[in-house]
Amino acid sequence: MATKMLRNIPSVSEMLDNPRIRPLVDRLSHNVVVDRIRNVLDDLREDVASSSGNGGLPDIGDLAERIARRILEGEQPSLRPVINATGILLHTGLGRAPLAEEAIEEMVAVARGYASVELDLASGKRSQRVVAVEGLLQQVTGAEAAVVCNNNAGATMLTLAALAAQREVIVSRGQLIEIGGSYRLPDVMSACGAHLREVGTTNKTHPHDYEQAIGEETAVLMRVHPSNFVVVGFSSAVSLPELVRIGREHNLPVIDDIGSGAMFPLDEFGAVGEPVARESIEAGADLVLFSGDKLLGGPQCGIIVGRRHLIDRIAKHPMMRAMRVDKTTLAGLAATLRLHRDPQRAQASIPLLQLLTTPVENLQNRAERLAPQLEACDAVESAVAMPEEAFLGGGSVPTQKLETWCVAITPARQSADRLAAWLRKGTPAVVGRVQHDQLLLDLRSVPPRDDQALVNAVGGLSSSD
Ligand SMILES: *Cc1c(COP(=O)(O)O)cnc(C)c1O
Repeated sequence: MATKMLRNIPSVSEMLDNPRIRPLVDRLSHNVVVDRIRNVLDDLREDVASSSGNGGLPDIGDLAERIARRILEGEQPSLRPVINATGILLHTGLGRAPLAEEAIEEMVAVARGYASVELDLASGKRSQRVVAVEGLLQQVTGAEAAVVCNNNAGATMLTLAALAAQREVIVSRGQLIEIGGSYRLPDVMSACGAHLREVGTTNKTHPHDYEQAIGEETAVLMRVHPSNFVVVGFSSAVSLPELVRIGREHNLPVIDDIGSGAMFPLDEFGAVGEPVARESIEAGADLVLFSGDKLLGGPQCGIIVGRRHLIDRIAKHPMMRAMRVDKTTLAGLAATLRLHRDPQRAQASIPLLQLLTTPVENLQNRAERLAPQLEACDAVESAVAMPEEAFLGGGSVPTQKLETWCVAITPARQSADRLAAWLRKGTPAVVGRVQHDQLLLDLRSVPPRDDQALVNAVGGLSSSD
């Protein structure tokens, strides 16, 4: 029985001639289609053998459909656009900051062809890759010089490798942070050959703790903004001006890793206490490090600004070559920085800042408008607008709560987890957050142009999905 069925399984060439499959050969490639046909036929042979033919063979039309579906699934890009309805504005798993139109346009323009990455078009001479953005970083932060690399973790490694290899970096114990996804400052330091010298205690560090630790081996003093936690209660840290005073007295550079890279204060919007790059430079930090894709709202990169002689040492370090950014990043960063020259302009045109600064009343209006539309969907039992709290980042400071409004969906005849899974797998994919067996769609991180897409995504599911 099984042997006879195995013989009846169609051949690869028979399937290639099938009218459902043939157009796919033209659209994709012969090799891709043949590979997938082989996969499906192999699976079928295994099924027949293991079930001794009890399941019977699918008819040729069903088989063609199965193959076509497998081919088309395989052609979906693995990186897909997502509507972020988690409320987390800087979601590392969702690619952090969405980019400004101005940045996208410049990235597309240089992506399509060649670009003056290391060529000065006026003189025809070789130039530095960072020239395109250095002038803008000087204007926006007030620093003397700048260099750009792959991300802020890279910026930290480069800086310490260039300035502190085999020597000591003094850091307060309260700032030895771990940031989601295996970034631990002590590990980063040892990976680039710097020796960590912790000072103070978890909750308190005083100026004399730094002063006592400084010795022959000390290379730099480092301050790190604890982006994802706060020590409250009986605590004290040494202020940046105080650290700068100690650094100057002992002729040691002060490095300030500010993390999120705010270009102007954002406390009134809920991002409380985020250090501003220009303020760090003005307070006397010799180097300031930050990410390009957090509060700056640009492409992924790490930015180091500060004193010319230190930046030169970093730029010449061999590791710089391994962490350099490409032409599209440089173009996107330059366009984003151009917007930051005017904070009003930045707020109006950089999506991350638009989302962060949207008045909560607007979110309430949208939530109240969306709730009945969502409730009318087949997969929804009830949908209500409700005020909530959102966070800046996945691992953000608990004191940085952003006011927001959500639509809380109670699904019809299925769990909220199941509804969430269906929405994640849809096109466009929608990611919300599940809370008390409800699915919350948080509008803080959704641009208004995506409201209709949210309704369509939920409306496209049936209650039996
Ligand atoms: C986010 C962060 C980093 C890591 O930055 P990436 O750009 O993700 O590499 C380092 N330090 C601080 C303080 C941060 O907040």
